[in-house]
Amino acid sequence: MTRFIPIALVASLVFTSGCGRDQAARSADAATPAPHDVDRAGMDVSVSTGDDFFRYANGAWLRTTEIPPDRSNYGTWSVLFDQAQQRTRALLEAAAAGTAAAGSDERKIGDYYAGYMDEPAIEAKALTPLRDRLAAIAAIADTRTLAAQIGASLRADVDPLNNTNYHTDRLFGIWISQDLNDPGRNVPYLLQGGLGMPDRDYYVQAGPRMESTRSAYRAHIAAVLKLAAVADAEAKAARILDLEHKIAAVHATRTESVDVSKANNPWPRGDFGRRAPGIDWAALFHAARLDQAATIIVWHPAAITGIAALVKRVPLETWRDYLVFHAIDRRAAVLPKAFVDEQFAFYGKVLSGTPQQQERWKRAVNATNGALGEAVGKLYVQRFFPPAAKAQLQQMVANIAGAFDRRLDGLTWMAPKTKASAKAKLGTLKVGIGYPDSWRDHSTLEVVRGDALGNAERAELFDYQYHLGKLALPPDRSEWWLTPQTVNALNLPAQNALNFPAAILEPPFYDPAASAAVRYGAIGAIIGHEISHSFDDQGSQFDAGGRLTNWWTPEDLAHFKAASAKLVAQYSAYAPFPDLHINGQLTLSENIADVAGISASYDAYRASRGQQTDAQAGDDRSFFISYGQSWRSKYREELARQIVLTDGHALDEYRADTVRNLDAWYSAFDVKPGQRLYLAPPDRVRVW
Ligand SMILES: [Zn+2]
Repeated sequence: MTRFIPIALVASLVFTSGCGRDQAARSADAATPAPHDVDRAGMDVSVSTGDDFFRYANGAWLRTTEIPPDRSNYGTWSVLFDQAQQRTRALLEAAAAGTAAAGSDERKIGDYYAGYMDEPAIEAKALTPLRDRLAAIAAIADTRTLAAQIGASLRADVDPLNNTNYHTDRLFGIWISQDLNDPGRNVPYLLQGGLGMPDRDYYVQAGPRMESTRSAYRAHIAAVLKLAAVADAEAKAARILDLEHKIAAVHATRTESVDVSKANNPWPRGDFGRRAPGIDWAALFHAARLDQAATIIVWHPAAITGIAALVKRVPLETWRDYLVFHAIDRRAAVLPKAFVDEQFAFYGKVLSGTPQQQERWKRAVNATNGALGEAVGKLYVQRFFPPAAKAQLQQMVANIAGAFDRRLDGLTWMAPKTKASAKAKLGTLKVGIGYPDSWRDHSTLEVVRGDALGNAERAELFDYQYHLGKLALPPDRSEWWLTPQTVNALNLPAQNALNFPAAILEPPFYDPAASAAVRYGAIGAIIGHEISHSFDDQGSQFDAGGRLTNWWTPEDLAHFKAASAKLVAQYSAYAPFPDLHINGQLTLSENIADVAGISASYDAYRASRGQQTDAQAGDDRSFFISYGQSWRSKYREELARQIVLTDGHALDEYRADTVRNLDAWYSAFDVKPGQRLYLAPPDRVRVW
């Protein structure tokens, strides 16, 4: 992994040239060192590319790399994650040790981090900071007070459209964003929730593996209750698991959750009692501070109705026990060590297969990022994201969007009207590079050094109030849904916008000193992937203004669905374990984005070739190997299984293998019929 060492040096040398990427490469002369290449040492060239492209690109790395004991997976993305985490640690430790003015963002992030790290204070307080909440739950005496407690616990903790985050252990999830039907206003969305394990499948699927996970979860519930000195813990744990099983039984599946056309159910607030009887909705919405919302979009209507019925049917006592367990378990990270260890034993070991817990500073960095992400991010980009990088990447995005636009021009199957709508959407795409245009104001958030649990509660409430505040404002297309220090990228369908945080714009994804082939194969394909999400099976249901609407002719839609169906079948045939296949439907959006993204990036790379020397341009093989290496990773089996069941992304190996859909891959490596990844030309999926 030597190419990760000279990061800072390389970045500062090349960014100062300050021009577009191709100019940077073109200005090279005989004295300029050769461009950075792919990681040749990490490959296994004894593997036939056409049989196993992922191992051809990564075989030596896979053989010699061990997943660190505190990880459930490891790969290219982890390396960047580690870098961002180390940098953030340095910022937070300096802030914690420094003398920033009281009330400043720097002081708040320093105090938050220091509070999280202060284990003696946490041990001394034990459960005291939760006393009021537990007392309020104990005081639940009727359906009204139960609904009020459920409502008071809700937070803006899901994001179904941008981050495809559907999971919350609170009984419902709230998301506040642009109305699917009216881009001029924000509305609250209500999602199913209430499960401690990652998905309904963990509760309802048969088989010894899931049965043993359920037993481990019941034991975990009992252990947490015992640690909190709750009497009769075993019997209560059994009843809590049974209640969650009932909740899971009415939940939509993960595949149903991603279907936005099923999610667009605007219910007038006053209709909830009729449509979902069993909950005192007026009390719930009042406690959740949603009194001012005339309409709420219900993402999971059947589940909301089903959960409401359970609220009436299941005894109050069980609900109290359930709420007590989750109130404690949700805060385990900032409770005494016995709770922390118990939490890791189940969520870390059982659910993800991770043998060893992360050091506390890593958890503290993650928690501070979660609570004060933009306050940390503002300092992060000042220190680690040179302005020249922003300009250079904007140019690269423009080149790939241009390639996508030319692909639209070249589509023979698409009607002119549909094509015009697609081009309008591409033309108005708002691209965010590095960090948001404006930063969130944290001045009213109180952070108290030495009060880790109180800080966590206040930060979540502050975040919820921030989102509630948007109900009185028009949607802001420049709103960001990732922090700058996050290693990820997003397409925001309703905002018709993209977010590329600073932390992903780093080698090996974005290495300004690499050949064009290497750059376009890695960050170029990621940029293409995010642009393509505007046109995947979900994104294509939104128009240029972010309205959920059908801008397709029936014939165009039929063609698109046929191409999608081929991709579903291609991915559903992959079996990472004998008893578990990839879910081609669940991962369809991501798989469309991968194949369309690498296709557009390949075009942009080819278009850039004439402006450079051969060495600066690189070759097609490097382009594809760079792509294959950007998906380099290893998983522990438990995590791999969790991803297959619950994640919209296929496992990385199969993402790398999507090169089999590109004709250029066949000619670059002379792939022949009979090889395992070979697809006959009509079977190669060309969606865009
Ligand atoms: Zn994606």
